[in-house]
Amino acid sequence: MPQIDEYLAANSDRFVRELLEFLRIPSISADSRFKDDVRRAAKFVHSQLERLGFASQLVETEGHPIVYGQSPQVEGAPTVLVYGHYDVQPPDPLNEWVTPPFEPTIRDGYVFARGATDDKGQVFTHIKSAEAWVKTTGQVPVNLKYVIEGEEEVGSNNLEIFLEKWRDRLQADVAVISDTSQFGPGRPAITHGLRGIVACEVTLRGPKQDLHSGIFGGAIANPVNALARAIASLHDASGRIQIPGFFDDIPPLTDAERQRLAALGFDEAGCLADIGVSAPFGEPGCTTLERRWVRPTCDVNGIQGGYQGEGPKTIIPAWARAKITCRLVPNQSPEKVALALEQHLRENCPPGVT
Ligand SMILES: [Zn+2]
Repeated sequence: MPQIDEYLAANSDRFVRELLEFLRIPSISADSRFKDDVRRAAKFVHSQLERLGFASQLVETEGHPIVYGQSPQVEGAPTVLVYGHYDVQPPDPLNEWVTPPFEPTIRDGYVFARGATDDKGQVFTHIKSAEAWVKTTGQVPVNLKYVIEGEEEVGSNNLEIFLEKWRDRLQADVAVISDTSQFGPGRPAITHGLRGIVACEVTLRGPKQDLHSGIFGGAIANPVNALARAIASLHDASGRIQIPGFFDDIPPLTDAERQRLAALGFDEAGCLADIGVSAPFGEPGCTTLERRWVRPTCDVNGIQGGYQGEGPKTIIPAWARAKITCRLVPNQSPEKVALALEQHLRENCPPGVT
C-alpha cells in the first residue's frame, strides 16, 4: 500500500489541523449548556464522512444525535462496523489544565485537549484512513459502517434503542471499537474486553436544615460523618471490597490468564511515575495489571456536603452526597451489585440519617 502511506504522509499536517478543529468543539454531553456544541461535533463528523462520498446522516434520538455513515457497497467484501463517540467528559477542574481543554496544543509531539484520546482522535483515525483509501484507490476495500454517538460519556442510553431499531442495517462481519488505548508507544493492542459499570448517587439527609454544631453537635448524627463512615465500610484496610455477595459470581482467574497478563511486561514503576503515585494499592493477592483490567472495583468519584467556603463555619450539615461507581467484570450482574451496594450503605448508616 505504498500510495496510501504516501497520501497519509503528504496530508498529515492537514489531518492534524482538522483534528484540532474537531477538538475545539466543547461537546460535553453531560452538561445541557453545551447541547448546541455537542450537535456541532456531530455535524463535524457527518460532514467528514459526507466528503468521502459516504452516505451519512444524523440520526435524532431523545438526547444527542448519532452519526451514521456507510461507504459505497463493495460486492463480496466483508463489512466492518466502526463504533466511536464524539462527546467528551466535562473538563473540570479547569485550573489543573496546563493549556485550556478546548484549545488544543501540541507539546512534545502529543496533542493535549479534552477528547484527544477519548475518543475524537480514534474516531478521526478511522475517518482519515478511509479517506486515504478513497483518494488513492477510489474506494475502501471493505464495506464500512460508522456508528459515532454523542452520549458515550453519559451512559449511551439512546444507543441501545438505536441498535435495536437499526439491527438489520447494522449487520456486519466485525465491529471495531477504538475507544481504548495502546499498551505503550509503538505497542498497539487489540482490547478484547472492558469492565462494565454500575453508577449511583447517594444522598444522606439529617436535620431539615444546617444546625449549629455548638448546640446540636454530638447529639444527632452528622450526615457528612455518616457518609464518610458508610463509604469507609465499602473496603477493608487492605483495599478488599466488603459488600456482601460482591465477588460471588466471578470465576477466579486461571493460571494461564495470570501468566498472559504477567508476560506483557507491564512497567509498573514507570506507570506510577507517570501518574505521580508513590505506591500501588488495591485488592490483596492481585497484580496492578490484574486490578486495573480484570478485577471489579468500587470507587467514590465525588463527594459533597457541608460548608465549602473559606474559613470555618460550625454547622452540622443537613445533607451529604457521594457519587459512587463500581467497575464490573464478567458474570457480575449490574442489578445485583447495585442492590447489594445500596443495602450495604443503608446498613452502615447511623440512626437519624436517611
Ligand atoms: Zn470513550
